[in-house]
Amino acid sequence: MAEIRPLSRAHFDSLWVAQAGQCALCGKGMPHGRFDVAHASIWKKQRPTFDHVIPKAGGGLDRLDNLQLAHAVCNKRKGKRQAGGSDGRLAT
Ligand SMILES: [Zn+2]
Repeated sequence: MAEIRPLSRAHFDSLWVAQAGQCALCGKGMPHGRFDVAHASIWKKQRPTFDHVIPKAGGGLDRLDNLQLAHAVCNKRKGKRQAGGSDGRLAT
């Protein structure tokens, strides 16, 4: 089978090159590997993750044209917003 498995390393690499290593959501650079950052805790927040342009819940597919790379924190924030949750702002 020559088919690329969903969310494989090949997907990651082509998206990384297409985005020049920048987060699709905030536009800032992402560390490429664990050892590009000083601490595991920073890596956990800043690591590049797959983000679905159209969420899987909305019928989006695991395909390159529906994927972009984003910081783990940015991805999480976006996911929350789409779920209709609060943005964390305190009610006054
Ligand atoms: Zn970001």
